[in-house]
Amino acid sequence: MILRGLLRRCAWCGGKGSFFSSWYRKESGCQTCGMNWERGYEGFELGAATMGVFITFGSIIFWMVASVIFGVPLVPLLLVAGSLAVFVPIITYPLTYSVWFGIDLAIRPPSEKDFAQAEEFLAQMASPQTLTK
Ligand SMILES: [Zn+2]
Repeated sequence: MILRGLLRRCAWCGGKGSFFSSWYRKESGCQTCGMNWERGYEGFELGAATMGVFITFGSIIFWMVASVIFGVPLVPLLLVAGSLAVFVPIITYPLTYSVWFGIDLAIRPPSEKDFAQAEEFLAQMASPQTLTK
C-alpha cells in the first residue's frame, strides 16, 4: 500500500491519481474506489505534513553531509540546500498524502462505515447535479 502511495496511486485500490484531481487539488475520496482519505480523522493531514517535513529535512541533511564529504564550496552548498527546502515540499506534497494514506490504512483498516461513505462518494461523483457545494 505504501508502494502504491509512492506512485501517487490510491493505497486501497491502486487507482491512478488516487484522490488527486490535479497535482495539488484533492477530492474528498479516491476517484476509482471512493475511499475517503481522512476517514473521519482530523489528524490525517498532520501525519502527511510531518512526513513532508522529514523528507525535506532529510534531503537537506543528506545534501549537507554529501557536500562536506565531497568538499563542495559553501556558496553552491547553500544554494542547493535552499532550493531543496523550496522544491522538495512542492514535488513531494501529493506523495506525502498518498503514502500516508497507505500507512493509515495499514494501521486502521477501513470499517463498514468507510465503505458506505466510499459508495456514497462514488454515487455523488457519477451524478454531479446532486453536488450542492
Ligand atoms: Zn481507490
